[in-house]
Amino acid sequence: MTATRVPGQPVVEDGVLISTNPASGAEAGRVPVADVEAVNETVRRAAEAALWWQALGYDGRRERLLRWRSLIVRRIDELAQLTSLETGKPAADAIVEGTAAVEHLDWAAHNARRVLGPRKVRTRLLTAEHSGHLEYQPYGVVGVIGPWNYPILTPVGPISGALAAGNAVVFKPSEYTPIVGQWLVDTFAEVVPEQPVLQAVHGLGDTGAALCRSGVGKMAFTGSTATAKKVLAACAENLVPAVIEAGGKDALIVDADADIPAAAEAAVWGSMTNAGQTCIGIERVYAVAPVYDAFVSAVVEKAGQLRTGEEIGPITMPRQIDIIRDHIDDALAKGGRAVLGGSDAVQPPYVSPTVLVDVPADSREISDETFGPTLTITKVADADEAVEKANSTAYGLGGAVFGRKNALRIARKLRSGMVAVNSTLTFVGMGNLPFGGVGESGFGRIHGEDGLREFARAKSITVRRGPSVLPAMTFERTPAQVATIVKALRILYGRK
Ligand code: NDP
Repeated sequence: MTATRVPGQPVVEDGVLISTNPASGAEAGRVPVADVEAVNETVRRAAEAALWWQALGYDGRRERLLRWRSLIVRRIDELAQLTSLETGKPAADAIVEGTAAVEHLDWAAHNARRVLGPRKVRTRLLTAEHSGHLEYQPYGVVGVIGPWNYPILTPVGPISGALAAGNAVVFKPSEYTPIVGQWLVDTFAEVVPEQPVLQAVHGLGDTGAALCRSGVGKMAFTGSTATAKKVLAACAENLVPAVIEAGGKDALIVDADADIPAAAEAAVWGSMTNAGQTCIGIERVYAVAPVYDAFVSAVVEKAGQLRTGEEIGPITMPRQIDIIRDHIDDALAKGGRAVLGGSDAVQPPYVSPTVLVDVPADSREISDETFGPTLTITKVADADEAVEKANSTAYGLGGAVFGRKNALRIARKLRSGMVAVNSTLTFVGMGNLPFGGVGESGFGRIHGEDGLREFARAKSITVRRGPSVLPAMTFERTPAQVATIVKALRILYGRK
């Protein structure tokens, strides 16, 4: 007998993972589950494919990555429909997500040679008889573990950087979105049929843990902070380095000279897009006293126009609904007020837009990641108090500032990896800007130059081009030569 299925909750039956839509329960597809042996075998095949992929060089890889980019663009509607079916998000949101993924793929393909390719470095006087050469060499096989909330963008960021740098990739999609993950792998294989350069392994957390222990050269993890710690522990066993993109509790600061309608519009987008299931989603706003009332009214008006089941899709992961409900109830029990939505907004599988004010700082709505379409707005005296409060969580992923005169100064003071000024979330869509957090939001960077270097090791080479004027690194140096070295040192670096 088959147990009753919860819409959106993946099930494993006879070694097959079945993925369903969180609202209707319609099946999105099924994939085989990879056990430890299967994961190890996949990584072994990837190691062979990596040699072939590396031998293609930057030009060969760029050409193939750009073919993949173009194929994704030609079939973007199909990808959006599939993403919408599997996560429940509106197809328009999936198109926006796919667009950002394409931007990163395009940027990594075009820039890998410039950022990672061999170059000569400038001569230093004390070692003038040697030329210096630097290049960045791939790890071999990179393991990528992804979450379900942005199943296109979150894996394509690290996959683009890793592939462009010359690595093969083994990708473990979230158990909630394996079908989108498989689509990415299958379309890549259409343009690179020769070798399994990008492969997927499917399953639950134990498949991800097996990937960490499979002998990959590096892991790129995107997911919750709690799982990130497990991933790091597994990686530590073999000293496998990892880039960690974890959760967030991002804040938006509204300063006195902000454009209030624009700030409200961006706050609603930043907090409610993808039903709030966004790592860089705005979950808290700190608005200075002179503009607070106008801002709250504008947010309530705009958020109140969003239609649940249309712009606001279902919560993708069924058990997240309990966390969202708990955060709202906790905030209200501690003295917060709902100016839109509230406890009744939680109607599984949906949560309607909820805006909370007067929420005490010790509420979970303020300190923990809610991951739903909720927003707290807190009145502060000035921008300094806003920064202090914004920085008071253990997370530090992104953030936003609305204002004119001091906006950039405030942005620099936010303890986070990225900040958008007079918009929200924009930094994730710029191919040349690195993306990553501080504190409990993780470390390392994907996207941009740093995101390419993350998937390659610096390789330094010196080449002797003549005899040593100051022979230091030899047992054959004479006392007179050592004295000359000291003299040269004093002239070069000894002056006050
Ligand atoms: P999880 O941490 O639950 O899962 C992330 C991935 O890790 C999934 O593929 C999961 O597999 C896998 N996994 C679970 N257990 C293990 C394990 N022991 N070893 C290795 N892998 C494991 O995160 P969610 O999927 O729920 O994603 C939501 C979270 O991701 C939020 O916290 C969000 O903020 C964060 N996020 C961060 C982003 C960033 O760039 N900083 C971007 C997007 C999301 P399975 O699904 O099968 O359990």
